[in-house]
Amino acid sequence: MTQPGRHFLQIPGPTNTPDRVLRAMAAPTIDHRGPEFARLGMEILEAVKPVFGTAGPVVIYPSSGTGAWEAALVNTLSPGDRVLCFETGHFATLWQEMARGLGLEVRLVPGDWRHGVDPKAVADELDADPARAIKAVLVVHNETSTGVTSRVPEVREAMDSTGHPALLLVDTISSLGSMDYRHDEWGVDVTVAGSQKGLMLPPGLGFNAMSEKALAAARTARTATSFWSWGPMLAANERGVFPYTPATNLLYGLREALRMLEEEGLANVYARHRRHAEATRLAVRGWGLEVLCADEREHSGSLTAVMLPEGHDSDKIRALILDRYNMSLGAGLGRLTGKIFRIGHLGDFNDLMLAGTLAGVQMGLVAAGVPIDTGGINAALDRLQRP
Ligand SMILES: *Cc1c(COP(=O)(O)O)cnc(C)c1O
Repeated sequence: MTQPGRHFLQIPGPTNTPDRVLRAMAAPTIDHRGPEFARLGMEILEAVKPVFGTAGPVVIYPSSGTGAWEAALVNTLSPGDRVLCFETGHFATLWQEMARGLGLEVRLVPGDWRHGVDPKAVADELDADPARAIKAVLVVHNETSTGVTSRVPEVREAMDSTGHPALLLVDTISSLGSMDYRHDEWGVDVTVAGSQKGLMLPPGLGFNAMSEKALAAARTARTATSFWSWGPMLAANERGVFPYTPATNLLYGLREALRMLEEEGLANVYARHRRHAEATRLAVRGWGLEVLCADEREHSGSLTAVMLPEGHDSDKIRALILDRYNMSLGAGLGRLTGKIFRIGHLGDFNDLMLAGTLAGVQMGLVAAGVPIDTGGINAALDRLQRP
């Protein structure tokens, strides 16, 4: 069936790619060892740093975010090392599974998928490790499966309060470029990111930002590395080039996306996301439905997960909304399959796109027979009338 107009891609990543970025990528592919590429490389490797909040190096892989997860682990850790993980949702679960697969020994602190990492639990776990066997703490900053954001600065404080030397590795795949994040100031050792969410690019780039401490750990880590190895990457990056063929045209897109973030101003970008998240929660509560995130301090700026009353299948509702209104919403993942849907409100997004998104959700809920208050959307529109 032909669907006129634009598709509404309101999953929490990949996000809508701005026309400016699409046009920037529509360029001839160049020699990745030539001078023109080196200039591009030098420019983006510098320009990407403010988004991470770091003065240190950021490496860029031709990979999805999952590759950047692996890079963070294999560069800093050795087989048999203990890592501390928190079951905040589906992505935290996948990351700890990867750690196990790579031969690390994982302690997974169970969670209810409605809360972020509890800083007190971090302190308790590290205090209970006088032998300092735990080498890293893994935190998903914005749990994309639940719409819950962990308080990374408080996790850092909790770690510092114990004097434990473990590294702090943070997944920012669905928060970087949408929510306030400060690699250096917050004392993060490795920050993991991807291109297709807040950075407004198609999928295909993975990022690691690393601290001095992480670089030191990389010099002694014994996990076998090749493709993901920071050493050759950082050495080549000194000259603006890469040790193997980079995703050249995605890097053209990255240059443009970074310019857009810079033009708007990062503080304004973060405020826009917070405001859209707030308006979305007002609509959800106006409908009489519940937001999955159970802690007011932990609401995500990138997405909102909506719980459905018993007896309603979120996948059926999503299919109906796709069919009738040409809009994609995020599915419930893992143990939340069928129980929730997720509204992505991140990336290249404005007030009327949100109003359209919420109108589509409301109409879909009504069409699916979910009992809601159809005045719900008005609370969001009232919020959007204010700056
Ligand atoms: C999307 C996402 C991932 C997975 O990234 P891929 O690019 O699909 O490999 C991991 N963690 C979080 C928090 C995500 O949002």
